Amino acid sequence: MLMREACEQIVEYGKRVYESGLCVGTSGNLSVYDPAHGTMAISPSGIGYFETSPSDVVIMDLEGHVLEGTRRPSSEFALHSAFYLHRPDARAVVHTHSPYATTLAALREPIRAVHFAIMGSGVDEVPCVPYVTFGTQELADTVSAALDEHPDTRAVLMSNHGLICCQSGMAKAFALAVDLEFTAQIQWRAMCAGTPRLISHEEMASSFERLKSYGQ
Ligand SMILES: [Zn+2]
Repeated sequence: MLMREACEQIVEYGKRVYESGLCVGTSGNLSVYDPAHGTMAISPSGIGYFETSPSDVVIMDLEGHVLEGTRRPSSEFALHSAFYLHRPDARAVVHTHSPYATTLAALREPIRAVHFAIMGSGVDEVPCVPYVTFGTQELADTVSAALDEHPDTRAVLMSNHGLICCQSGMAKAFALAVDLEFTAQIQWRAMCAGTPRLISHEEMASSFERLKSYGQ
């Protein structure tokens, strides 16, 4: 079995994504990338997170060819590939329809620096790309263009759809999706109560510096 550890991670973190309320039903999908072999393990299409076992995970290359697996891959495989092609340090991608990030996506608003929890994204404004039909190459191309236009961002909002983000590993990618959902929730609540005041670009720059020495 190719990428066994990655397949197990996708099952484990799929459950976490679901339990954290970041996804409902079978929405959302996760992947892990192995740059040494150019292979991506990605969640199968339309199977519940608690019904998925490691053998349901599909192994593909970044051109969309299935290398191993009996299931159909997530319909958003091209979207995941876009991150690995445009972010050489990306090793995991998490895509969710989390309610607050998706609320901002429905408003076609970027996630802004209403809280420093945004900083894991690498930017002080997570871009929101125009609406494109889910599961299409056109959506992957639209997100690719945003990744080129915003070279520091690890996350993109997709209008009337949801959030997608990458990190150097699955645990970090999941944590980033949680942090961005929190930030989006605070932004939306602040928008309901008034006009959010944003952390300045300069203050965010010092937060990015602090982040380098944060944690264990
Ligand atoms: Zn989606």
